[in-house]
Amino acid sequence: MPMDQPVKERSEMPIKDCWNTAALYQESADFEKDLTTWSRSNQTPHYPELGASSFNLTNTKDVKKLLDLYMQMDRNLSKVYTYAHLKHDEDVSEENAKKGYMSAVRAAHAFREETSWIEPALLQLPQESLDKILASEDLKEYRTYLQKIIRLKPHTLTGEKEHLIACSERAMETSRKAFSSLNNADLKFPACKDKDGNLRELTHGTYSIYIKSSDRALRKEAFMNLHQTFGMYENTLCELLEGQVQKAIFHSRVRNYSSCLEAALYPYEIDLSVYSSLIQGAKQGLPVLHESLEFRKKQLGYPELHLYDLQVPIVSEVDIKMTYEEAVEVILESIAVLGSDYQAILKKGLLEDRWVDRYENKRKRSGAYSSGCYDSMPYILMNYHGSLNDVMTLTHESGHSMHSYYSREHQPYQDSSYSIFVAEVASTFHEELLFQSLLNKAKTKEEKAYLINQKMDGIRATFFRQTMFAEFELAIHEWVEKGVPLTPALLKEKYMQLNKEYFGKAVEIDPEIMWEWSRIPHFYSSFYVYQYATGISAACTLARSVLQGKQDAAKRYLEFISAGSSLDPLAVLKRAGVDMRSPDPVQSLIAYFAELGAQLKALLEEK
Ligand SMILES: [Zn+2]
Repeated sequence: MPMDQPVKERSEMPIKDCWNTAALYQESADFEKDLTTWSRSNQTPHYPELGASSFNLTNTKDVKKLLDLYMQMDRNLSKVYTYAHLKHDEDVSEENAKKGYMSAVRAAHAFREETSWIEPALLQLPQESLDKILASEDLKEYRTYLQKIIRLKPHTLTGEKEHLIACSERAMETSRKAFSSLNNADLKFPACKDKDGNLRELTHGTYSIYIKSSDRALRKEAFMNLHQTFGMYENTLCELLEGQVQKAIFHSRVRNYSSCLEAALYPYEIDLSVYSSLIQGAKQGLPVLHESLEFRKKQLGYPELHLYDLQVPIVSEVDIKMTYEEAVEVILESIAVLGSDYQAILKKGLLEDRWVDRYENKRKRSGAYSSGCYDSMPYILMNYHGSLNDVMTLTHESGHSMHSYYSREHQPYQDSSYSIFVAEVASTFHEELLFQSLLNKAKTKEEKAYLINQKMDGIRATFFRQTMFAEFELAIHEWVEKGVPLTPALLKEKYMQLNKEYFGKAVEIDPEIMWEWSRIPHFYSSFYVYQYATGISAACTLARSVLQGKQDAAKRYLEFISAGSSLDPLAVLKRAGVDMRSPDPVQSLIAYFAELGAQLKALLEEK
């Protein structure tokens, strides 16, 4: 078993533990050949057959010819790119793989640049031409794809104006890049003393460990030192965040949106009501969160529960260890409710077809992901060591991979990808099924309590905390839209107020948290984090319907993962049985959280 063994070189890894890249290209020479054929690095333009002058877009036959060529080339290049990035991630220092990867990235850039004229050119067409295109039999297979482009027409400007916006893009990135440099490179944090008086180095990496440590002195000092350091730069960090908001306002105004929120959601076909329902629903559910925090306080036995006490486990650790094969077995058992076909496909993928690059080797990329293209298997990269966390990661990535597998099986190339809004639903759904299955099988009270506690911490972090972030983001954008300048005082006040509201009376709100807004990298991708909260709400609703055996629930889930982008995200979820415009999914997640809290209480109070 490769767990707990010294990390090997890539060349020493047994084939059966590595993903099957040979299914994509038998030999690296085959890849090289395709790379040369499709990257066309020796000529400019690289893709002359896709030049604007070759097509008359008022002629539907020409539009079809263009889209056929475009999709085929895109597909060729994504196959080349997929192989290149998989090989690169196997050993990030390997020279040949690095070169192949860089060439594939360059080709992808060149392709994007040389075809960037297509969408604006379509959108410049008079409405009657667009109507003709949408009604055309020749273009039937591209209808959904074209509709998605054409719905952006009211928010797309003339060619010259679009060019000006494109020219401003790099300058607009300054806030985000400056924050990232400060956060990742320049800022240094003072070392922390642990309970024995030893000095421990504080970095972003060690912070995430210390804050969960059972050494209260250490986690307190880590919390204080980290936030106070950010506090020393509050004026600069406030300016950077305002810069990000100003960028959002610029885009929203020049593109005729009524607000930054609309500008962020409309392109992804998400209604504003989804955002407001989320915040409203979370607020109504706060008493349930507060109750769980009261229980945490009692359980830890502290006279005061501080913000640095929220991540320390309140139940004793249970050492759950599994081999990869055992993990696959429990995962397959947990997804049995989706039917034998689904189960058989995943089993074959995880054990025989080698979707997964299972274990760590020297210089392999860290973390985990599911990746691939229309012509490949849905590969999974991970560094499996056997912890419960690793098993959860494997099922999470498997959820993504099955989503991709089904969408590619059932949709044509142009409709096979899916948006971020729905992506995390499939992965979280898998996690939920595994959690329920492990809970059912748990033999001891300790094991059950451990699993439930972990789940509740997950919901608190993914749902409540991210919704609080979403509310903060909305507030700062609305202020700047109204002409209220952001100041450190204003941001700190709002942030304290939100913390008090979300965490309630059980928690001592340490004043240092007032600087937390200044250290959240996600605030530099406006209106992104709400999708974590909506994703987990949708996933839990779907998982419960399937587990309760509601009629057609499993069948409708399979339809959901088969849909790709053939339907918009809200419609596809609604068809699966979850209406994200309504408060129901959020309410049922909160009810579920309350139920878990009651179960945990009963387990821990049972003698
Ligand atoms: Zn994911």
